[in-house]
Amino acid sequence: MSRNYYIAGNWKMHKTRSEAAELAKALVTQLKDGKHKYLVAPSFTALETVAAIVKGTNILLGAQDVASEEQGAHTGEVSVLQLKDLGVQAVILGHSERRHVYKEDDELINKKVKLALKHGFEVILCVGELLEEREAGKAEAVCETQTVKGLEGVSAAELSKITIAYEPVWAIGTGKTATPEDADAIHAYIRKVIGKLYGADAAAKIIIQYGGSVKADNAAQLMAKENIDGALVGGAALKADTFVPIAKFG
Ligand code: PEP
Repeated sequence: MSRNYYIAGNWKMHKTRSEAAELAKALVTQLKDGKHKYLVAPSFTALETVAAIVKGTNILLGAQDVASEEQGAHTGEVSVLQLKDLGVQAVILGHSERRHVYKEDDELINKKVKLALKHGFEVILCVGELLEEREAGKAEAVCETQTVKGLEGVSAAELSKITIAYEPVWAIGTGKTATPEDADAIHAYIRKVIGKLYGADAAAKIIIQYGGSVKADNAAQLMAKENIDGALVGGAALKADTFVPIAKFG
């Protein structure tokens, strides 16, 4: 089964509007002949600026999070309606920084997943274990729970809008990457979990990205693995020089 590779850049809390515009313009130029699927996720403050630059190109616009409610008295939050208004097409949900720093639980993440789908967004649902969970032999169980709970109430039809990103927390921003073999084993396991929930066809089709210190020099080895269908990139997504070689691997 051939799946399209999907490379996404999470710019996190970096870049002013002018810096974001500069990077987006460089990516539009340098990825225009790229053969994979691409997404950039700037900060909320730069979405409108970047939307104007990536519109009509092969780069999708993503947000790094969204509120779990449609609108209302939720100081500091950003709603699906506001993101749609800016031309955002996808949202990253359940990122480990949201889970572990901002204490988002599976129930909240699931609420966001369902709301985003209801409003027609694509979703990148991040899952991944902490170092102590890996060392205790719980990596599969943690990823299974986060996948099952994150997708609760998501229909088989809606699953086509979901990408899973496996991001071992100990590999994010640390320079430590899971070996291609270790990553592939968890990807295979997550695919099995999707199979149990949605059937073999859905399991074969779902895109599972790897995230955690992906760089130009490890991207190709990771993506050569059968179950690794792309990457969610943090640090290396902040410069065209480091993101483009990942995005154009292969
Ligand atoms: C991320 O935050 O999603 C990520 C994978 O970061 P980094 O590439 O910097 O490890």
